[in-house]
Amino acid sequence: MYKIAFLPGDGIGIEVGNSAMKVAKVVAEHFNVELIINEKLIGGCSYDEFGSPLTDETLQACYDADAVFLGAVGGIKWESLPHNLKPEAALLKLRKALGLYANIRPAKIYQPLIDSSTLRKEVLQDVDFIVLRELTGGIYFGEPRAYDDDKGFNTMIYKKNEVERIAKIAFTLARERNRKVVSVDKANVLEVSQFWRNIVIQVHQEFQDIELTHMYVDNAAMQIVRNPKQFDVILTSNLFGDILSDIAGMITGSLGMLPSASLGSKYALYEPVHGSAPDIAGKNLANPLASISSIAMMFNYSFQMKKASELIEAAINKTLSQGYRTKDIFNEGDKLVSTTEMTEIVIKNF
Ligand code: ATP
Ligand code: MG
Repeated sequence: MYKIAFLPGDGIGIEVGNSAMKVAKVVAEHFNVELIINEKLIGGCSYDEFGSPLTDETLQACYDADAVFLGAVGGIKWESLPHNLKPEAALLKLRKALGLYANIRPAKIYQPLIDSSTLRKEVLQDVDFIVLRELTGGIYFGEPRAYDDDKGFNTMIYKKNEVERIAKIAFTLARERNRKVVSVDKANVLEVSQFWRNIVIQVHQEFQDIELTHMYVDNAAMQIVRNPKQFDVILTSNLFGDILSDIAGMITGSLGMLPSASLGSKYALYEPVHGSAPDIAGKNLANPLASISSIAMMFNYSFQMKKASELIEAAINKTLSQGYRTKDIFNEGDKLVSTTEMTEIVIKNF
């Protein structure tokens, strides 16, 4: 039996979230696993109801669950609220409360989408890697930090245990994949990067079956575009990961196709990379595949059901190969479908 805290949020988060839960239920049934879904408000809708974008009740539901699914938060209606009441404030608070320090963004090409990509086919063929980004340290949180009229500064700092735990995740993930980790840093310029590199090498002692190499971040950005096939697991810090995961995402698909997972030592959260997309919200136009693929990650990482995860990914691939497309990935000659239609077809393709 597994428990999901389901936080659809605002805008298309509600639509793609419902798609994700439908898929999760069908997959669980298929594998004879009981699934309990506990739905709670987050973001703008929570502010409207309770005057807060993240309530204790919602937090508690996350603590009580085996995994959290988040749709998206935000919308025009809440844009002028003070900073701490904005829907987006709920995300930071939630990630912090759950101690999510590892962010996983897959960059995997769906074969049927290669032809409509702007990159060359031979570059994209068989691309399948993940960017693992450290999420709670580095320059985003380092002290001191400030600016005045004359200067501004931040501190890029990593502690030993922070690098150790993310490096362990990288090697563990690689073991389930193609056993290659590239650690990305800027060790030719930054002391914090040399430190990072030293610790990664130390942790690697326990993972001698995994190939470890190092790459400077400027080169990594270039290599992801030039020859993405060479990568399996990219391990990197908060700031570099922010940039590299966006590059990696966009070479393989549209915003509507990109899933993500954020892991901590106790909790895990799964969400599509895209936001609440107010322009298409409520119109049954949103691409649900990023969310459905996030559910595949949930079954793999949180429920240790790799077979279920593969079943979902195979169904997505089959659906795309049959020519079905939501508007964001539609090209001349494709079959245009709505959010709910796409979801039903994926389920039929199990
Ligand atoms: P946020 O600040 O919430 O991250 P954003 O401004 O970055 O939002 P998104 O909401 O992520 O923007 O998306 C930008 C645009 O991309 C949307 O307005 C929408 O047109 C398109 N888009 C995003 N996600 C999807 C999706 N799942 N299906 C179809 N189109 C999408
Ligand atoms: Mg955004």
